[in-house]
Amino acid sequence: MSNPSLEPEILISRLSHRPRHLLRAMITITSPPQSPDSTLADRVWTNRVSSLTSLDRLPPEIMSTLLDMLDIQSISRFARVSFRGDTFVQSHRAYRDLVAFAPQVLLALGRVGLIDLHSVAELHTALRTERCATCIEYGAFLFLPTCERCCWECLRYNPSLRMLLPKEAKRYFGLSERHLQRLRTFYVIPGKYGISANPAPEHCRLVSVKAARALGLVVQGSAEKLAHAMARRCKSTRLLVKGRYLQGEPAVSQGQDLLLLPSQGNIPTDNFFGVASILFSSLSKSGRVEDGLWCRGCEVTLRQYDSLRLPRDVLATVVPPNCEPQRVLLGLERRAWSKESFLDHIKHCYGARQLVPELATGND
Ligand SMILES: [Zn+2]
Ligand SMILES: [Zn+2]
Repeated sequence: MSNPSLEPEILISRLSHRPRHLLRAMITITSPPQSPDSTLADRVWTNRVSSLTSLDRLPPEIMSTLLDMLDIQSISRFARVSFRGDTFVQSHRAYRDLVAFAPQVLLALGRVGLIDLHSVAELHTALRTERCATCIEYGAFLFLPTCERCCWECLRYNPSLRMLLPKEAKRYFGLSERHLQRLRTFYVIPGKYGISANPAPEHCRLVSVKAARALGLVVQGSAEKLAHAMARRCKSTRLLVKGRYLQGEPAVSQGQDLLLLPSQGNIPTDNFFGVASILFSSLSKSGRVEDGLWCRGCEVTLRQYDSLRLPRDVLATVVPPNCEPQRVLLGLERRAWSKESFLDHIKHCYGARQLVPELATGND
């Protein structure tokens, strides 16, 4: 007979949580907009006219493709051109989904100055994806400058998911003041970011590493010349190490869990962790919305390790050889899971079995 305490919903309510210290480490929009109209930071209202004239004659599928190519600001402007335009937009699936399931993201894009950077289709594709863009895990966040879904671990270790001051971009990617004008400016929303909740500097403007690196490659002509340009500008070992890290190819998962691979050495501090990322729901094909589940069991395991109470044999089963236990256990504590992957994870999670002993008997 099945044990009611092992029902998926009961296990999820007992073993998952939403750690505030992690969620507050990123952009938080405390007052989500009430309607699609208010999601847009920079609205331009035009006089309504009764028809879209030549656009009226386009087949609906062509119209839908055109709307996909617009950014969120433009699609909203388009809706204001006429009642017919408004009808097209309101019935556009991607736009409707984004307004319904990611209003904070749209508002955040407006506030950081990137509302016109990504098309409706790009944002919708990211919304409909569960996986982190650079590893095999569930991605609970969106990195706004690149429109990539990402996990905590990749935000922490992948240089392409970092932001820099413009003067740093010049130093590390061989750029001049004139080159910088070709990069999009990211306006940091005032607030506290990162695990230690550091306040962001006032009026802080940043550029993305990914964009600066791509521009540096064009300007310098090759990865080798880019490396030389950086080395000429970095006069200390500390700057050189950071430059090499930022120019390095990010680790790409070949189907393995990046957290369980041997440590890649010291990762330079990210002074702007969290300023460009935000919690991002995922929407499955069947219409199921997920916001990520964090494991209480992994929190228990980490706490036991920190207080020297984690049995050695347990540690050996959780942390592979050549991996630093603190990094792995912290990474697991900070990892978000989809519902399906969470239910699978807790079957093997030592801490989860401590909290719900029936799990051990239920799975043996
Ligand atoms: Zn990842
Ligand atoms: Zn766990």
